Amino acid sequence: MSSNTKGINTICIHEGELKDITFKGAVSPLYMSTSYDFLDVNIKRYPRYFNTPNQESLSKKVAALEHAESALIFGSGMAAISSTLLTFLKSGDHAVIQNDIYGGTRSLIESHFKSYGINYSFTKDLSVESFENCIQENTKLIYLETPSNPLLKLVDLFGIAKLAKSYSITTAADNTFASPIVQNPLDLGIDIVMHSATKYFGGHSDITAGAVASSELIMGKIWNLSKDFGGNLSDYTVWLLERSMKTLGIRVKAQQKNAKKLATFLDKHQAVKTVFYPGLKSNEYHNLAKIQMKGFGAMMSFELVNGYDAETFLKALKLIKPSMSLAGVESTMLLPYKTSHSLLTEIDRISQGITNQLIRFSVGIETKSDLIKDIEQALIVCKS
Ligand SMILES: *Cc1c(COP(=O)(O)O)cnc(C)c1O
Repeated sequence: MSSNTKGINTICIHEGELKDITFKGAVSPLYMSTSYDFLDVNIKRYPRYFNTPNQESLSKKVAALEHAESALIFGSGMAAISSTLLTFLKSGDHAVIQNDIYGGTRSLIESHFKSYGINYSFTKDLSVESFENCIQENTKLIYLETPSNPLLKLVDLFGIAKLAKSYSITTAADNTFASPIVQNPLDLGIDIVMHSATKYFGGHSDITAGAVASSELIMGKIWNLSKDFGGNLSDYTVWLLERSMKTLGIRVKAQQKNAKKLATFLDKHQAVKTVFYPGLKSNEYHNLAKIQMKGFGAMMSFELVNGYDAETFLKALKLIKPSMSLAGVESTMLLPYKTSHSLLTEIDRISQGITNQLIRFSVGIETKSDLIKDIEQALIVCKS
């Protein structure tokens, strides 16, 4: 992996930036061209080949942030994930998939893999042992997502990487919930890291994008499929994403600082049964988080006690938005049982800990006391 001695915020702002040689402007120029010279050039450029100036420049920033040799920017998180999975899984292959994963990824696997002849096993739980139990002779990939949604469970990245290496299996981790500011799976031996850049990379709830980072060798393989699948991001949005990513470090750190305070506040509140946040000392993943993360992130969930209605609570909020998606500078909350986990049967949901009283909280950068005041007033309204 490449070593970059620059500080994280310097990387966020400057890594990969394009120089404006003509006018010496302060930001990367935007090249919208879909047509480039083919005579006497080393690289034939075309947006779907992921190699326009803006795409290449932003890829360098993502690679540096994830301590990777190389990266590619995609049109969505799912474009990044599907292109990666299908690069490593062919007809007759088998994949070990973590049980708690993003709904879209689960849908890709459960709705389509069978028709491609790809076999898979979902792990029983998140322990390394549970992953090992699923490995078969034709297993080619282990797929992870940590922290997981919505209960913020952690997978031992180093343990899984070690296990996979002993069987010569490739590992891929969705690092969306943590962001590279909080966690770098490649440093722990994971082979490939993926992001929904719609979340922390974009950070303002106005861009859909994705990214994958790994070694030159692996990214070459992923590129080879991706250029034909056509999941690239338009250069204008690449340029906007570069602007967003300049503040990735300061945003995530501010969000994480707020999250820690809010988790402590909720944990002490009589209306709250449990807070799921690895930053709390009482959390079962706290020690693992201290080992493999550079903080505890800004996502959490909490469960209200009976007598406080979760839906009424969300409707009573005045500042925090009851809204899908996550990771924006604005705080949002949602009910997993009505969104990401709505297709499960009630019995399956409850057995996974997703009750109707569970609220997922994506903490933003608003002033902490305003967030606390908003939660306090909504808890009064929703008390029966
Ligand atoms: C949102 C999300 C995705 C999918 O990303 P899109 O940009 O919506 O395609 C994948 N993984 C996780 C963890 C996500 O939160």
